[in-house]
Amino acid sequence: MKKPLVVALLLGMSGIAFAEPVITVSPSAIHPGDPVLVTVTGTTEMPQGKAGGQPLAFFAARTGYQAVFAAPLAINEDHILVELSGGAKPVSVAVTAKTFPETKLVVEEELANPDKADREKIDADNKAITEAYGRGKREDGAPHFLHAFKRPSGSVTSVFGEWRTFNDGHRAQHLGLDLGAHEGAKVAAIDDGTVVLVRETFLAGNVVVVAHGAGICSLYFHLSKAQVAEGDPVKQGAAIGLAGHTGRTTGPHLHISLHVGDAMVDPAAFFKLAIAPAKPSTAAK
Ligand SMILES: [Zn+2]
Repeated sequence: MKKPLVVALLLGMSGIAFAEPVITVSPSAIHPGDPVLVTVTGTTEMPQGKAGGQPLAFFAARTGYQAVFAAPLAINEDHILVELSGGAKPVSVAVTAKTFPETKLVVEEELANPDKADREKIDADNKAITEAYGRGKREDGAPHFLHAFKRPSGSVTSVFGEWRTFNDGHRAQHLGLDLGAHEGAKVAAIDDGTVVLVRETFLAGNVVVVAHGAGICSLYFHLSKAQVAEGDPVKQGAAIGLAGHTGRTTGPHLHISLHVGDAMVDPAAFFKLAIAPAKPSTAAK
């Protein structure tokens, strides 16, 4: 008589387990600088969770809830643990090292090896960009976007993570994706958001930063002209400026960077994520 009771208990337990939220990650194996899409199903409440100890910014999705995080370029771990408060089974994302390509570039000497005054300008630019990430956060944490992100057109001329040596001196890692664009070509917002920075910088030229909510910001570099102002709401596809070659460049192109959580991520990988925010009727509350 004992055995059937044990079976019944086990079935009962698995029944409870099925009612708990389930975490899915895509992809489940990544390199430093890659983003990961987390989807949580089996719950009707906004989940709270962490990836690698950092809080995840969840938003309502067409199926369940989603959040995006990224492996920092300087990560030392071989995995990132995704966990929810409230009992869902944690999921591990494997992180393997990657050798990024190396290249040599020749630019004007003052751009390759900036003097003290220019280095101070660069530091101030970086500070302004970092500060911009925090703006555009909504009090309720809701994302600004109601569509999947749209990759700008243009063929890839330089990949994320490439190491560049300028004029055989200064070495720097390329933290964005370069896409071919003519001088003066329209540069469009990759999704709905709020403009959080418009700035003439030393290295990146004219920069526009758009906050999309859910911890995601897009950055557009080397513009010949910005056509938006800080605080402007923008819709996906709306012009934020014109492509150009301001700052440290070898010619006109669009450099796009993506900042997710606290990390710069590979835009090419980001645009492949199946981000599917809930439809406006269900998301707008
Ligand atoms: Zn670039």
